[in-house]
Amino acid sequence: MSYQIAIDGPAGAGKSTIAKELAKRLGFIYVDTGAMYRAMALYLLREGVPMDDSGKISAASQRADITIAYKDGLQQVLLDGENVTTFLRTEEVGNMASVSSANPDVRKKLVELQQNLANRENVVMDGRDIGTCVLPNADVKVYLTASASCRAKRRYEELTAKGETCDLGVIEADIEKRDHQDMTREHSPLRQAEDAVFLDSSKMTIREVVERILVLVER
Ligand code: C5P
Repeated sequence: MSYQIAIDGPAGAGKSTIAKELAKRLGFIYVDTGAMYRAMALYLLREGVPMDDSGKISAASQRADITIAYKDGLQQVLLDGENVTTFLRTEEVGNMASVSSANPDVRKKLVELQQNLANRENVVMDGRDIGTCVLPNADVKVYLTASASCRAKRRYEELTAKGETCDLGVIEADIEKRDHQDMTREHSPLRQAEDAVFLDSSKMTIREVVERILVLVER
């Protein structure tokens, strides 16, 4: 039986940083499910599928061939055999992913892929519905969050460090919009699983969060 750690929470809570570090410490694979939704969104954008046409999103999503590979321990997402990992973190793809991830046919296809991976390997998987839908029997479940202002500040610092100009108010408004979309959608909304441990990282360092989760793993 594989060992499964599920980490859910809103955008910008630090899920991927924490999950990557945990996977490294434990020798597990890290599965970034957001990247799979982003790869699907990239496919839909390339196919010219309109954001507001759920029928076309459903149909097109069934034609997309999304697979996962690992290179130097890092997840790579292949779309129809092409490594698209570096194209996934743009605003355009993120906005499409936020809409298309609400589509039940998109979710069904990607959840199957995620469950297959987790059945084969020990995983740290992060997303929005891992503890509630994808891996309901995960060994450890964490709901990781932080205040919207704190998440916006972290994102702002990340972007300015890369030399990008941005506005803190706009980032915070965008984060609040994403939270609302993720939490109120009909299919697999973001919510804390009943048996998940709640962690607010607003006043915690990355190391503190990782150590706190490792204690849960060792129990
Ligand atoms: O986490 P990330 O921002 O990369 O996720 C991209 C989009 O995919 C988000 O807007 C989120 O709504 C969606 N998503 C999801 N379920 C997951 C992971 C991500 O609906 N398990």
